[in-house]
Order: sequence, then C-alpha cells, then structure tokens
Amino acid sequence: MRKTLVFLLLLLTAGWRSAENSNDLLLSYCSQFRELYENIANASISPDSASRAFTHIMQGVKSIAFYQDSCQFDTIQAVFPVKGYRPVVSIGGQGRGYKPDGFDLFDVEVKGSHPAHDLFILDRNRDSRDDRTKEPVDILSFSSGIILDVQNDWQPESGRRGGNYVWIYDPCRNGLFYYAHFNSVVVEQGSWINPGDKLGEVGRTGLNATRKRSDTHLHLMFLRMNTQGLPVPENTFEQLMSSRVTAK
Ligand SMILES: [Zn+2]
Repeated sequence: MRKTLVFLLLLLTAGWRSAENSNDLLLSYCSQFRELYENIANASISPDSASRAFTHIMQGVKSIAFYQDSCQFDTIQAVFPVKGYRPVVSIGGQGRGYKPDGFDLFDVEVKGSHPAHDLFILDRNRDSRDDRTKEPVDILSFSSGIILDVQNDWQPESGRRGGNYVWIYDPCRNGLFYYAHFNSVVVEQGSWINPGDKLGEVGRTGLNATRKRSDTHLHLMFLRMNTQGLPVPENTFEQLMSSRVTAK
C-alpha cells in the first residue's frame, strides 16, 4: 500500500515537473516568435532564413499545444470577435476586402495584399468608442489557442502598420490568427484562451489605422500551415458569418 502511494506521489511530481518544463519551453518559443516577427518587420532577416526559423518555432509550439486539451471547442462555437456586433454589419465590404494575392509573411517589402477582413465598429467621431453606447468595444477571441505574441505599447513614430496586435496559434485549425489595431491588449504571451475570451479593446493603432480617413476596425487575418509548415492565408468569411454573436 505504502509502495503504491510513493509511486503515485512520484508520478504526480513528474507530471507537475513536465508541465512546468513545457510552460517554460512554450514561453521560450513565444519569445523566439516575437524576435522573428521583429526581424521580419525591420527587414533584418532574409525571407529564406525567416521561413526556416518560422517552421522550427511552429513545430515546437505545435508539439506543446498537442498536450493541451486543445480541441474541446469545436469550430462551430467560434465567436464573432467584435463584441455585440453582427457579422453582416461589421465585416467590411461584405467580405470583399479579402485580397490574399502576393502575401508573404516573411517579406515586408511585398505590399498591396490584404489577406484579412476588417471588422468595423460604429465610430463616426473616431474616439475608438461605440457611438451608441459611448463605451470601448471588446475584441473577443474567435477560437481557442495559445497567445504567441502581443504588442501593447505601439508608438506612432515606429511607423509599424499593425499597431497593437495579438498573434494566436490555434492547434485545432493548425493556423495563426492575427488581430490588429487594438487600443489596448489584456492577454499575455503563453496563455491559453477559449472562444469568446476578451483579448482587448478595438482601437486605431497602426500606421494607416491611426489616420483620420480610416474607419475604426479590427484587422483579422488567418494563416493556415500547409504541409511544409508554411503559413498560407485562408478566407474566414463564411466562418465569421456563422460565428456566434455576443450580447453588448
Ligand atoms: Zn485590414
């Protein structure tokens, strides 16, 4: 009896230890992802090296995500990311804003594509608040996943386009979600989120989003990993249209 107890105790401690280790490992992959994304944005890494580093990091993240209870939430339960808004009024141009041609995550020099949907809020006076409620609007996670990278201190002088952003790895879809132009972000690198969890608030950060002519919106991109582990844009229009709308 005592032997069994000791054995069980040992087993539990080993479990805790490996959970601790995998968390450290995950955080290390998150910071590698951050560094890589910075290097791509500054064009201080070649597209080839960037793509090699990317596949290495994502393989690591994927192997850790496997241990999480990752696919308990079906894609059916996806939540429309702009709280209190219906897809039909929020999605820009009824989905025609999605233009994936020429996109390359690893090459900042390539311009002109928009492999994303812009999800708008009602904000005529450009104060990042809903005109009807006068309140900030929450950005909710569309799916479940791991927060890979967060930017929450964007400065206009940086000239960076995404402003304050969140990158999420979704193991069920084996892809990355990129949410941009937040006013503020409330999640941290390495944490696990579920559909409908608050990521932050809609804002106007980012080179173009901050300009007067831009309507306040959330930029949402999804990149699915192909068989080589490389990110390919995928149109989420239908999934967004059928996602769950939350109350204000
Ligand atoms: Zn956009």
